[in-house]
Amino acid sequence: MGEFELIRRYFFPIAEVGNASAVVLGPGDDCAIQRVGSGLDLVFSVDALVEGVHFPYHYDPEKLGWRSLAVAASDLAAMGADPVCFTLALTLPDADPDWLSAYAHGLASAARRFGLSLAGGDTTRGPLTLSMQVHGTVPKGGGILRSGAQVGDYICVSGMLGEAGAALDHLENDDPGPDVQAVLRRYHFPEPRLVLGRALRGYATAAVDVSDGLVADLGHILEASGVAASIDASRLPLSQHLKRLVGQSAAGLALNAGDDYELCVTLPPQVWAILPEDVRRELTVIGEVVAGEGVTIDWGDHIENLSAGGYDHFRN
Ligand code: ADP
Ligand code: MG
Repeated sequence: MGEFELIRRYFFPIAEVGNASAVVLGPGDDCAIQRVGSGLDLVFSVDALVEGVHFPYHYDPEKLGWRSLAVAASDLAAMGADPVCFTLALTLPDADPDWLSAYAHGLASAARRFGLSLAGGDTTRGPLTLSMQVHGTVPKGGGILRSGAQVGDYICVSGMLGEAGAALDHLENDDPGPDVQAVLRRYHFPEPRLVLGRALRGYATAAVDVSDGLVADLGHILEASGVAASIDASRLPLSQHLKRLVGQSAAGLALNAGDDYELCVTLPPQVWAILPEDVRRELTVIGEVVAGEGVTIDWGDHIENLSAGGYDHFRN
């Protein structure tokens, strides 16, 4: 049984009990949405980071502070939400003041940067695990779901892809050159696309953040929308740092590596034409939504058909 089948079988049914009518979007998207009245929807999501799974053992606590909030805030960006606050459930093996002060410092920098204030939490002893619940808001009905992609829409991504994936081979590198430093920065200090996500409200038909890899996360949009994707590999946004570091492997990393926390969005060509210039500048059109199932990649000399795979905690 895979991660998503497990969630669907055991936990999705519980979404139907209780005051379900106030929950306008339940499990299955980047965040859930609760209608709170007064013209606003509350958008919220929880993410758990486990030592040895989501970050290496003995990972720098200051980087962890930033990264743990960034990955949670990225789901708010993917819904087009305005960030409000977060709660933190912290499980620690021991109360080490040096570790805690560095962790809190990284967390505070991220909180300030993303405009999320800490509203509460829980602290327990055990194997190092951080769970972040983030809250944001959208105008009533304004959340960008995974399910709205239409045949003919452009598929766009923000920023550059594949850099955080390239960093994985260099986490232990004691003497990084400028290219390695640049990709390590992408891994250690991801920047959730909150400003962009919010600016795409009312324009994008669907959005997801790229946490597990472009093909896998775009796959969530395709599945939720009942459509397929055609991607032009030559249009993938690849930085010079990445190309110098990995050469021919750059496009593969951009398609399959995770941890970039860019946005993948769909929107109709006529909307692309009227996007505010500062929003369009952040995006690259890499392909198109088509009818059918799965993802096809045009490599110039051949076409590759992919089923959407990605990181699955119970299949690897
Ligand atoms: P993301 O990568 O955007 O954080 P996930 O892949 O973690 O999303 O989760 C996919 C969807 O499944 C989300 O909508 C999430 O709320 C839901 N989900 C995950 N675990 C559970 C669970 N134990 N109970 C209910 N819903 C869950
Ligand atoms: Mg997400």
